[in-house]
Amino acid sequence: MFYYEIVCCSCRQKFTLDEGSQKYKLFKERTNKVFRCEECESKIRMDAIKNFLSSLK
Ligand SMILES: [Zn+2]
Repeated sequence: MFYYEIVCCSCRQKFTLDEGSQKYKLFKERTNKVFRCEECESKIRMDAIKNFLSSLK
C-alpha cells in the first residue's frame, strides 16, 4: 500500500495519506496544498459547528 507522509498545517505533526483516500488523490493531483490531520480537521469542524450554533442565539 502506498501512502504519503506529510505535515499537518495546523499542528505540524506528521501524518499519512493512504492510497485510495480522497486526500491522497488531492495531494497527488496537486489540487490542494494545505492539509490537516484528522484530529485538526475534526477540531475545525467542531469549532465551525459551535460558531454556527452561537450565531443562532
Ligand atoms: Zn494536525
